[in-house]
Formats: sequence, structure tokens, C-alpha cells
Amino acid sequence: MAGVGAARALASGGAGVTVLEAGERIGGRVWSIRDFADAPIEAGAEFVHGVGAATWTDVRRAGLRVQPVPYLRYSWFHLGGRTRWLPLHLTHPGVWRSFDILWSLHHLTGGDRSAAAFIEEKGYRGRAKELAQLTLTAHLPGGTDEVGMRGLVSDGVLHLEEGLNHRVLDGYDLLPQHVATGVDVRFGWRVARVAWSVEGVEVEADDGRVLSARAAVTTLPHGVLASGAVAFDPPLPPSKLDAIARIRTGAVAKVLLRFDDRFWPRRMAQLVCGDGPVTLYWPTSFGTAGAPVLIAYATGPRARALSEAGPDKAPDIVLDDLERVFPKAHPRRLVRDARFVDWLTDPNSLGGYTFLPPGAVGARAALAAPDTGALVWAGSATVWSPVADTVEAAYLSGLRAARQASAVLTGRTLRP
Ligand SMILES: Cc1cc2nc3c(=O)[nH]c(=O)nc-3n(C[C@H](O)[C@H](O)[C@H](O)COP(=O)(O)OP(=O)(O)OC[C@H]3O[C@@H](n4cnc5c(N)ncnc54)[C@H](O)[C@@H]3O)c2cc1C
Repeated sequence: MAGVGAARALASGGAGVTVLEAGERIGGRVWSIRDFADAPIEAGAEFVHGVGAATWTDVRRAGLRVQPVPYLRYSWFHLGGRTRWLPLHLTHPGVWRSFDILWSLHHLTGGDRSAAAFIEEKGYRGRAKELAQLTLTAHLPGGTDEVGMRGLVSDGVLHLEEGLNHRVLDGYDLLPQHVATGVDVRFGWRVARVAWSVEGVEVEADDGRVLSARAAVTTLPHGVLASGAVAFDPPLPPSKLDAIARIRTGAVAKVLLRFDDRFWPRRMAQLVCGDGPVTLYWPTSFGTAGAPVLIAYATGPRARALSEAGPDKAPDIVLDDLERVFPKAHPRRLVRDARFVDWLTDPNSLGGYTFLPPGAVGARAALAAPDTGALVWAGSATVWSPVADTVEAAYLSGLRAARQASAVLTGRTLRP
């Protein structure tokens, strides 16, 4: 989304633009699978967050059908060994102690510390601790001991719960495909080396092909940058290397499950699990008669464990979990097909998305900084507003990088 967004903006300004893509499809971490059910199923990003997202213009222009998913109202939780509608859990005195958590986050004081240290400081125990852990890390690919409190707030992660989310019924990947209309995309072009200077950029593929340009935008995912799979010549400035080291890409995995019949409550938009191998479950057809497909979504340590189990065992682990969470329904008997999507081992992302550990606030700005001559920086990890590392963030980063690349092309000075 960052790459095609930047390319379209530059091309519309008259520049000759080429997108180099390692894979064979447009979308990257937006990937809709069309051979699993009678409707597209999202293997990567699933939702347009909020009604004001910058991506809405293209969703509408592309004529994509969307469905609102009212999470807050129709959330179910598995807490303290029981699966119930969230308001019923909230009547349990064991969770009341954690009710001040959102207020505490909005008024966070003191130095940066991990979510685990914050929970300890607040004295949450039992169900209150489970709820606090979910509030702080369910969306993030890091454990409570890894995620930093200041980063969580500055990344706007809590906004994800505030607005209405929408699912793109026709498949989310039609959005980047629409943005890429008319853009020259070269597939199977895995960049292995980037030589940069103030005068221009030369990129080399892993098969030796070389291309040079007056300016370039990199949208390499942070996981790929951190792995060292791409060499930079000369080496990146220390502030950039420090930013790459401080930001963390974590594991995110999905198990897609198709059943004979729906066994979950009809108006369940999501099921959030306090424990077990899966963080969240959501049906892909909320409140409608669509395909009985459930997506198991695991983040951080839970996703790492599924990744280690691998594609043969991960679906079994999730089905065992569903037997635990819905003991009367015997989901195992109803399952027809299962597919494991592991973003951690995908060479084109090497992880799901990023979070900031304690002390890493400011690293996204350093990653985004135009301090490498004619090479400018985009990608969802370079944006922190309104919410870091989303499809919208990726698109916004592309627009910003296009302005910076355009300044290089016209000989204007780049300002941070
Ligand atoms: C499971 C999952 C669920 C998510 N859910 C949501 C959600 O509901 N809503 C939301 O807004 N966001 C969500 N996200 C985050 C969102 O998908 C990403 O932040 C966003 O799509 C990233 O866009 P990008 O353009 O920065 O990077 P990418 O989409 O990763 O694009 C980078 C591109 O670079 C290519 N590439 C990699 N290495 C090379 C190389 N060496 N040479 C050439 N090309 C290369 C890749 O193939 C890829 O196409 C989710 C992510 C995951 C993984």
C-alpha cells in the first residue's frame, strides 16, 4: 500500500515511476484469499479502521462493498474459564479493579516501562490482570514484557477500539490493486542491495539485475530491514540503524477455519481470549448467512508458538482450543478445511507488524527521516498517526515519501 500509494502520487505529478516487487502480487500484507470459501477471506489485514481513514476515498472510487463490524457492542470474551458476552464478564467483581486502565493510559506519567511493569504497578490480579493484558497487547505482536507503555500511547493503538471497523467484502487487496492502476509494477524483483547518494540510487536484485534512478522510495517492511537481507551502500547513518534496532517487528499468525455450520453466537463479532494459543477469533460473516468461516488471530508469543508448531500442527492446536472455548459445540466435528498463514516466516515481511519496546518512542520518526540523499523512506512502520502500522499508515507514508522524492527530482532541499 505504501509502494503503490507513493508510485501513483509521483506518476500523477509527471515522474516516470517503476515499482519493484519481490512477490507476484500487489498488496503485500494485504492479501485476500479467494479459494478457501465462497467469499474472499483475508490472510493479512482485515479492517479499515475508523470512518475517517485516508484510504476511504479509494475504497469508494474502486466501488468496493464494505460491512461495518460493531466490535465494541458484540464482543465476547473467554475469561476466568468462561466464554461470555463482554457485559456479562464486566459484572464480575474480579474485573472491576481494571476499569481505570483507559483513564491511566490517557494520563500516563513517569518514565517509559513495559506493559508488564505497568500492570504490576497498578496491582491488577486475576481476571483484572487478564483484561489489562488484553487491553494493552491483544493488537500488538509483542508480549507484556516487550511492549513499551509510551510507545503504545504514541502509536495510537488504543484508537483501534474507538472507531467503527469495516470489512471489505470484495476483498481488501482490491484497494491496493485499484491504487496501482496504470502503475508500472515489476514482479519477481527481489532487491538485495541499494547503493545511495545525493545524486541518485542504484538497486540490485538477488539475480544480479540492476536499475538506477534519480530518486527512490523504499517501502521495505521493517522485518526485512532488521533481518539485514538488504545491503545498503554506503551503510545507513547511525540514527537510521538505531531506529531499525529499536523498533520491533513481531509475530502475527492466522488460522483460517471453514465449518459445516456456525456454532458460535450469531451476533458475535469477535471473541477475545485471556489465555490459550489464540488471541482473538472472529467470524468473517458477522450477523449474516455468509460462509461459516472463523479466523483465529494470534499475536506476539502466541503467534510465535503457532509458528514453531508449523503448518501441520497449528490448525490442530487451534481446533483443540475451540473445543475448550465452545465445549458443547464440538467444533472439531464440524470443521471442513483449515489453512495456516504465518507472517513471521514469510520472506517478504519477516513478521506481522511493529510495536515499540520501552525507550523506542521517536524511532519511527528517525526511520522516516530523509537523511539518505536520494533514497527516501516509507512503509507502515514509519508512521505513528493516527495509528502506527496500519494500511492507512502505509498509504500515508507513501504520500509523504512521494513529496520527498519529488523534492529530490526537482532539486529542492529535503527537510525532516
Ligand atoms: C495478519 C495481519 C493483520 C493485519 N490487520 C490489519 C487490519 O485489520 N487493518 C490495518 O489497517 N492493518 C492491518 N495490518 C497491518 C497492515 O497490513 C500493514 O501495516 C500494511 O499493509 C503494510 O503496508 P506496507 O506497504 O508498508 O508494507 P507491505 O504491505 O509489507 O509491502 C511491502 C512490499 O515489499 C515487498 N518486498 C519485501 N521485501 C522485498 C525485497 N527485498 N525486494 C522487493 N520487494 C520486497 C513485499 O512483497 C511487499 O509487497 C495487518 C497485518 C497483518 C500481517
